[in-house]
Amino acid sequence: MMELNTEKIAGLVRQILVELGEDPDREGLLKTPERVAKAYAFLTHGYRQDLDTVINQALFTQATSSMVIVKDIEVYSLCEHHLLPFFGRCHIGYIPDGKVFGVSKLARLVDVYARRLQLQERLTEQISQVIMDSIDAKGVAVMIEARHLCMMMRGVEKQNSTMVTSSVLGVFRDNVATREEFLSLVGRRTV
Ligand SMILES: [Zn+2]
Repeated sequence: MMELNTEKIAGLVRQILVELGEDPDREGLLKTPERVAKAYAFLTHGYRQDLDTVINQALFTQATSSMVIVKDIEVYSLCEHHLLPFFGRCHIGYIPDGKVFGVSKLARLVDVYARRLQLQERLTEQISQVIMDSIDAKGVAVMIEARHLCMMMRGVEKQNSTMVTSSVLGVFRDNVATREEFLSLVGRRTV
């Protein structure tokens, strides 16, 4: 697993401050490079997490095939185009086939992928795929609703809009009624 050289990152942040016309030696900025390096280390810790460990701690055997819905998982990520945050909520639905996820563990799983440089579309697909693969589910549906600071702060396009992405696999893809049930349970009419 890749180790982060936070000292080197701090040095590079210092250079950015200089190029921005700032004085990195003034009091308020003295510790900024170090803080930014630590912040990036945290915001990208998904790269350095072991996915198998997270998944293995999350699985339980349960003989059920009812739809499981986990709503409103908080998502904080960084857009890979601008290194600016996008944030919102993730809703997950799946139909198990003998194995289920611990509810709180799903949030950790989301974080493994969210704490990286991301595209919302890819994040949505990665989450649905890893759930599908790790419990061999009958189907998985994932929806993320998020706001992107790169759009909001730069004043482009619709500043107050929320971006909605979804990824459906298995029975959620094949069966309209199942998909509709998911959408109504997470409070969305249609996607
Ligand atoms: Zn962006």
